[in-house]
Amino acid sequence: MLDRLKQMVPTLSRFRFLVQLLTFALSVYGGLLVGSYAAEKISTALPALSCAYDSANGGYCALVPLQHQMDHRVGAVMARAQQITVQVLIPVFVTFTTFLIFFFVLGKAFCAWVCPLGTVQEWLAKLGRRLGLEMRAVPAGKLGKLRPVKWLILLGLVFVVPLLVGLGYAPHSAGNPYCDICPSRIVTTLLTANTEELAIRTGGDGVSLGLGIVANLLAGFMIVAALAIRQPFCRICPMLAMNALFRHASLLRLTKVAHAKCDKCGICTKACPMDIPEIHHQHGRKAFNEDCTLCGRCAEFCPDDKIIQIKFGPLAVFSSAREYYKRRVKGETPEGEVKPIRIIRKPAGETHAG
Ligand code: SF4
Ligand code: SF4
Ligand code: SF4
Repeated sequence: MLDRLKQMVPTLSRFRFLVQLLTFALSVYGGLLVGSYAAEKISTALPALSCAYDSANGGYCALVPLQHQMDHRVGAVMARAQQITVQVLIPVFVTFTTFLIFFFVLGKAFCAWVCPLGTVQEWLAKLGRRLGLEMRAVPAGKLGKLRPVKWLILLGLVFVVPLLVGLGYAPHSAGNPYCDICPSRIVTTLLTANTEELAIRTGGDGVSLGLGIVANLLAGFMIVAALAIRQPFCRICPMLAMNALFRHASLLRLTKVAHAKCDKCGICTKACPMDIPEIHHQHGRKAFNEDCTLCGRCAEFCPDDKIIQIKFGPLAVFSSAREYYKRRVKGETPEGEVKPIRIIRKPAGETHAG
């Protein structure tokens, strides 16, 4: 065990894993860990996809206030034909400003470094590999068909339906439609031993029953699919669409310069948990795709110096490098297969990694 620890080299992925552990503990168990007062403070500073239905959380899901404001404030006020007053503008403005600051500073890194549901899907993929399941990439053709789904969910379930409820055109039970189907609500509350969100409410109308069924199907699908496909829910997640809107304005971003060898290699796409082909074929703005979660694996596994970089403003936080790549592939394949570390014992009793 000690030998194994000695062989472990610091990598971007290991650092990201530690950050994920910390943000996971804060967003799912923050209330228990730091108390409800501090958790509330964390809530305003960390608008994570940690579920508002999780009583132990220390986070604040960015999608909740959007649905509420569309329903209770914008829709309700418009329905009464009142002026758009400060009563409406200020809360909506505050919500959007919080998002903008958050997305402007962290950008897409929210997904790969903070979101508890993203972390759970990564852990499930690791479990799948341990169970010997083959990890499948989503082909580029299917990705193209899948990509609009997240935009439709963002537009329809976070903005339009709650607004229709506020205007009185849809039943109140459809006031939080995205929360009602969100797998994070079920998965993160289950992780705090709360099974309430798993129950389908049969006492309400057909809308709550339908949404409850969709939620359970989606959560079940995500758990099973994540064993054999990397980040299955992320591909249709409205938060991915939301942070995609701000990705080119964000301080933290992915950059790639053109390189003669790029057309042949393609290791970056193999390493990408979202199977993004553009990181291989494109460069410049087009390489930083809407589906990117800023996990940095493409930069870790690119075998050439400074082609892919994670930048904060003008500063390169992490750059692809030949030497780093050579060390990295010794421990893990680009596809995520962890290679066992072989300990070669010398007669004198010294140990070396093979
Ligand atoms: S895409 Fe959605 S579920 Fe996936 S990591 Fe981002 S916010 Fe979380
Ligand atoms: S891994 Fe690097 S060199 Fe290979 S295609 Fe991707 S960016 Fe180009
Ligand atoms: S493009 Fe790179 S940083 Fe973005 S999700 Fe893929 S591997 Fe991660």
